[in-house]
Formats: sequence, structure tokens, C-alpha cells
Amino acid sequence: MNLKDLILVVEDDTPVKKLLEMSLKEYGFGQVSCENRAQAMKMFLLNNPSLILVDLGLPDGDGKEFIKEIREVSKVPIIVVSARYDESEIVASLDAGADDYIKKPFSVNELMARIRVSLRRATNNEITEDKIVCGELSLDLISRDFFFKGEILKLTPIEYELLKYFMLNQNKTLTHKQILKEVWGVAYQHEMQYLRTYVNTLRKKIEKNSTRPRYIKTESCIGYRFSNSNEEE
Ligand code: CA
Repeated sequence: MNLKDLILVVEDDTPVKKLLEMSLKEYGFGQVSCENRAQAMKMFLLNNPSLILVDLGLPDGDGKEFIKEIREVSKVPIIVVSARYDESEIVASLDAGADDYIKKPFSVNELMARIRVSLRRATNNEITEDKIVCGELSLDLISRDFFFKGEILKLTPIEYELLKYFMLNQNKTLTHKQILKEVWGVAYQHEMQYLRTYVNTLRKKIEKNSTRPRYIKTESCIGYRFSNSNEEE
């Protein structure tokens, strides 16, 4: 983390906005905030924040439109903080370019953990290393081999591409559509069964317990999140 990462908060609900401001301050982040989409773009351009927290229901428009606008100019991490329980809204936000989401009411600890993960990922993406590691899994970017517990992991070409995409997007919620588009191609973006099948075969190769996965987590109705959680062991 930088000395003081600046977080832009876009939230029109005053109590929630106050809670976010206070929590960010308490956890050592710098913050600027605003209440609508029009101000949000100005604040973004003016402050160059390290991360954006955005509510979906804004008085002058949809937070998703703001996310799309930002994605045209920047890769800054965006976390949606939303009361909308509709999974399709979350999927649409992630497809629009958000990195993660958290539902209201949220736990401050969890939100801060998500912020730290997103910030770390954004920084790591700029470092070119020859190896990507996640728990007992690693991908050697030079030999292009996957290693699991020190041994070469045998994968089919699709399994390889899928695991590579997961490894490159650790800790990020990926929608079914995003994964299918990236691994199989645009024409396959609705072939959910392909994805389910390959996630199952991958889990058999890397998970000790496929029903309680340590690496490939199911985000119900949304997609998957690849991470290393020891507590699942
Ligand atoms: Ca709102």
C-alpha cells in the first residue's frame, strides 16, 4: 500500500457515506467523496484516486454508466457498494468493468480487506515477474508450465487457458460471460455448460475437496473468484 492511498467515494446515502468516510480514515486511507455521477467524474479527474467505491443507484443516473465512463479512460480499481440484491445488476456492473462488489449492509472489516486486495492487485499487475504464485500453485511464465505442489501439472489446452486466466485475475470476481469470452471467445459467451464442465475438471486436479474449494470459489449466480484461502482447508 502507498503511504496514503486516496479513495473516491461516490454515494448519495448520507449515513452510508459518513460510515465509509470514517472507516477509510480509521484504516489510514485518504478519501474524497461526492453524491452524484456528474460530480464523480470531476472528482476523479481532479484527484486521480487509487480506487473508487461506487453506489449503483445515484440521483442523476446509474453507477454502471459511471463505471463504463471511467473504463474508457482508466484501469483504476472500482468496487461497487450496492443495496441492490438483484444478481443481474452485480453481473452488469462487473461486465461494465467493476473489479468487485460488496452488498449493503456490509462489514467494514470485509470492505477494507476487499480494498486492500484490489489495491495490491492493481500494483502487482504493473510488475513483470517470471512467475505467478497462488498458494501451492504457480505458473512459470517463461517455460509456460503450471506447477502444483512442486510438480508439473498436466492440463488440456482449455484447462490451461482457464487456469491462466484465473491466475492472472486472482481475487477478482469474474462473471461467467467474462470468463467464456476470454477463454473460449466472444461466440461462446453464453455457453455456461462449457465453463461448468472445465471448472469441475480443474477442481479435480487442484482442489483437495471439490465441494469446499480452496482456489476456485463459486459466486452464486455471478461467476467465480480465484483466490487462495487457507481457512477452507
Ligand atoms: Ca443510492
